[in-house]
Amino acid sequence: MYTVILLVSCVAAFGADALPLGKLPKGKVVMALQPHHDDHTTDYGMGGLIARFVDEGYEAYYVRASNDEKDGSHGYARNDMINLREAEEATRILGMKKVISLNWRNDYMGPVPLDELRAQLILLIRKYRPDVILGHNPWEHYQKNPDHRNVARAMAEAWWMAGYENVHPEHVKIGLQPHQASYLYLKARLDWGLGHTPNIAIELNESQVRRKQQAYQTHRNVYANPASARGVKAALARESLMVPEFEGLDDQEAAVRMEEWHMDWISRVRGKQAGVTFAEDYFFVDEFDHLPGLKAYLKENVSAK
Ligand SMILES: [Zn+2]
Repeated sequence: MYTVILLVSCVAAFGADALPLGKLPKGKVVMALQPHHDDHTTDYGMGGLIARFVDEGYEAYYVRASNDEKDGSHGYARNDMINLREAEEATRILGMKKVISLNWRNDYMGPVPLDELRAQLILLIRKYRPDVILGHNPWEHYQKNPDHRNVARAMAEAWWMAGYENVHPEHVKIGLQPHQASYLYLKARLDWGLGHTPNIAIELNESQVRRKQQAYQTHRNVYANPASARGVKAALARESLMVPEFEGLDDQEAAVRMEEWHMDWISRVRGKQAGVTFAEDYFFVDEFDHLPGLKAYLKENVSAK
């Protein structure tokens, strides 16, 4: 399998940062397993890839896991009907064969049992026997949409589990056989970031840091309690060490002092990294976060009125 994959992803990089260009694998059937009516057409995938699979001889199927009732302004039932019709039209334009709707309630997929959704996808994989599966990356960061998260997880699990005969053996009774697709293409909003790396520091003044210290040590049940100070004093005593500043303080007062040091220290560390005295770091999301193209345009093209 690895030899095949290496051949498939034959590299043609144009620079140090360029991604290698992948060839499409040989096969007959591709299935997109997605939550919504429009997920096969979004800016970050995968209309172009589907069109190319079709051009290279694949049969393509679209699974829409939700009923899309909340996408639109027409009320639930009408939204569902319109969105399904538009999904069918869009898949036809891409050369796909069929839309299969599972009709789970749009945006309320959090409580849907993962195993149940996965079982449906396993059944469809065994029925259509795709060589390639397309969908959202279940390990994508900052994905707010519960349908995207849950369908992606179920899809990634179904992808490999559909190949095991002991998984849902009842499918054999309706004439289906285990089947594992060889290839998986996962789309994600990578412009949202690859992990939780802070993108801004917020400067704090001395008074704000002092209030932060006081608020923190107020939580005596979990932080600034006498036992924590006793523990530190005992550990230092075992090494014949002590903290002069603890002299004259009881364990409760020493515990508060420890937490104040901690809050002061972290505020100074973050401040130093940002070139100021005190700061806190955050991953900040602005009002145009979902429109990276617009953000790039605005960065270059706005001016004061
Ligand atoms: Zn979606």
